[in-house]
Amino acid sequence: MSDRVVVALDVGGTGMKCALVRPDGVVVRTERHPTDAARGPAAVVGTILDVAGGLADKARADGLTPIAVGIAVPGVVDEARGVAVWSANVGFRDVPLRDLTVKRLGLPTALGHDVRVGGLAEARLGAGRGTGHVLFVAIGTGIAAAHVVDGTAAVGAHGAAGEIGHILVRPDGPRCGCGRPGCLEAMASAAAIGRRYAELTGETADAPVTAAEVAERAATGEQLAGQVWQEAVEALADGLASGQALFDVATIVLGGGLAQAGDRLLTPLRAALHERMTFHREPQLVAAALGDEAGCLGAALLALDAVGVRDHQEKR
Ligand SMILES: [Zn+2]
Repeated sequence: MSDRVVVALDVGGTGMKCALVRPDGVVVRTERHPTDAARGPAAVVGTILDVAGGLADKARADGLTPIAVGIAVPGVVDEARGVAVWSANVGFRDVPLRDLTVKRLGLPTALGHDVRVGGLAEARLGAGRGTGHVLFVAIGTGIAAAHVVDGTAAVGAHGAAGEIGHILVRPDGPRCGCGRPGCLEAMASAAAIGRRYAELTGETADAPVTAAEVAERAATGEQLAGQVWQEAVEALADGLASGQALFDVATIVLGGGLAQAGDRLLTPLRAALHERMTFHREPQLVAAALGDEAGCLGAALLALDAVGVRDHQEKR
């Protein structure tokens, strides 16, 4: 059957990226909808079910056969039970999203964690393709990772694997959102870089300088920006070196907003990571290839895995 598709949703704090995806990885329809999380988790769940149901109906109207649903959500996700356990920005508390979707749509459904499925997509279809062992690190407001081996992302015993942002890198560093001082995320997330720069320059304007602007100013030779950027790069290199010591991956794929700095991030980070390698094998360090579609594609892969379909071309 070549008319099969899966329904894929990547639910974020502000928006949902949705698609119909064929087993070969080709996207045949995309949609975006606001999450509008302020309405509360019950309303968000209602929207998720409506959007998923709507996409399945559109697939059928186009003569396609929806065979499964994949949904990616942020926070703590129990993939085995299909439960969105906890999410700061969407407000989920123990929502049995998989069962609710199965009940509403009558299709096999897989629930995944947004960063883990993003890593899955980058490892199987994107920048890590063909390399087998991949660590995907998303650097945005926070920092989180996915360890993917042969096309499967490790979930952890409690659905919380990959919290590389909370590796301790500077014991005397700024306090992290998790409550502890010195986490990688408190030093090197896009938010932390903007904060640190504002702190040093005293520029506490209404519109704080973003990490991208810090990178830009560092590139033009501004001394303080250069210092803040380098501090973040060194902290990231410490975090990635810990990741490499644990996982021995072939490729580290950097995603999230900060990765858009491209070579301004990758070049000094490669050098700093190289300095930290002793007997460990140095991983390739590359930018993500799928952009903000990674989560949605990953949700589709999860759905295909749930029904045992792996038609897309994956070079391992
Ligand atoms: Zn932390």
